[in-house]
Amino acid sequence: MSLLSPNSPLTGIGMTSQRTRDRMVQRLRKQGIKDEAVLDAMNAIPRHIFVDEALSIRAYEDVSLPIGYGQTISQPYIVARMTEILRGEKPLGRVLEIGTGCGYQTAVLSKLSQEVYSVERISPLLMKARANLRELRARNVKVKHADGHYGLPELAPFDGILVTAGASHIPDELLNQMAVGGRMVIPVGAQEQALVLVERLPDEFRQTRLEAVKFVPLLGGTS
Ligand code: SAH
Repeated sequence: MSLLSPNSPLTGIGMTSQRTRDRMVQRLRKQGIKDEAVLDAMNAIPRHIFVDEALSIRAYEDVSLPIGYGQTISQPYIVARMTEILRGEKPLGRVLEIGTGCGYQTAVLSKLSQEVYSVERISPLLMKARANLRELRARNVKVKHADGHYGLPELAPFDGILVTAGASHIPDELLNQMAVGGRMVIPVGAQEQALVLVERLPDEFRQTRLEAVKFVPLLGGTS
């Protein structure tokens, strides 16, 4: 980031500056995020470029914001928390994200993983995400237009799978695409959603129900 010209939109000014990002990270620490690698990644990534310019002054507030097509960018705390759980304090190898949205969570993952594959069902959102990630020069990321229920079997197994839309159940295809020793974080539930951590052990899938959350639904098909 240090090579950026002062006029680059990535640099930010005022409410989109590095100082605002520092304050966001201080707040995440107070909210209980402990993984310094996650905090560093979120400190480095200009979240304001992922939202419409009119909303950019709100980009570092702890809220979800609309990104068009009825979808939202998740609030910073949730991005940090899910990433922290997925990492389990270990570097990530190959990661699959379901629900690229604007690509912010993808960018955070790209700093903490060897390779990131992200799938989005809404084509224009995917194009926006691709442009955002290109602007950040996130070279270890590939995004794909598809229904994430099926994962990406041709690239499996994954060390980490992060689902950023609420599922009614955990799709078998995603379980099958986890590496042994791998982790999946997925919001599950119809009315009441909770984050679920799935760990693939040599001969079982261990599920742990974590905190309550509120995500847009994981839908079928593409558009
Ligand atoms: N990861 C985003 C969150 C985006 S919101 C962030 O950083 O903030 C969830 C996204 O999941 C939406 O863009 C929605 O279109 C997408 N989605 C919902 N169902 C999906 C499916 N079956 N396959 C792929 N993407 C899906």
